[in-house]
Amino acid sequence: MPSFRVEKIGLTRFVVIDSNRGPILVDTVPLAYRERFWRRLDRLGLAPSRIAALILTHHHSDHTGMAASLLEINPMIRLIFHANEEQALSSGRNQPTVYTNQKVENFSKKANLQPTFPPLKRRPHDIVFEEAQSPILRDWGVEAALLHTPGHTSGSVCLFFDEGTLIAGDTFSNIPLNPFKTNPFPFVYEDMPALLRSWKWLLSKEPVTITPSHGRSLSVSKVEKALKNQETQSNLSQ
Ligand SMILES: [Zn+2]
Repeated sequence: MPSFRVEKIGLTRFVVIDSNRGPILVDTVPLAYRERFWRRLDRLGLAPSRIAALILTHHHSDHTGMAASLLEINPMIRLIFHANEEQALSSGRNQPTVYTNQKVENFSKKANLQPTFPPLKRRPHDIVFEEAQSPILRDWGVEAALLHTPGHTSGSVCLFFDEGTLIAGDTFSNIPLNPFKTNPFPFVYEDMPALLRSWKWLLSKEPVTITPSHGRSLSVSKVEKALKNQETQSNLSQ
């Protein structure tokens, strides 16, 4: 029996994990999906009053859009995130990024994507971790580690379940019908060398399945191939 389920609304996925203190969410959805989000939680029997914690894989508005509303309804929900995201979360604004290629840049600028989200200020009962690997979820009976995987953003995190599923946030992407040929890279990143180092570290843990926030699960071999190509390219350009 898996102890988590992946939910999709529009292009964004979030995860619901069972814990011994109540359900834990990993990320939310854009503010624009507000109604669909509440309906989905309702259908899953997940009243905000039941939710124990909300892990944020990173600060971007398409994952944090509904976080402030959840905390407003139930202030006891504990936010869990990496210290490197604290400033961005409290600013309510996506931090500057680089586009993975020119086509994505042209598209994104035209699409005028929502760059802001309701700000999230750290509260005393939130859990802000600073280490590369945090065992904090084990206290909640969740058989997974929180991993700091900088690159997409400086405080991006992944969840790695002992059974081999990697909940990857935007550290990997698998956008369906992606016309920009960026998969398995995210559309944007803050630091490419850091992202590639995070990828290598994650692959060294031998995940069985990689579940990104955007698109279906990815195979490890696809990621290995992309990593090799990227390294060849950067060697050629040196
Ligand atoms: Zn993102």
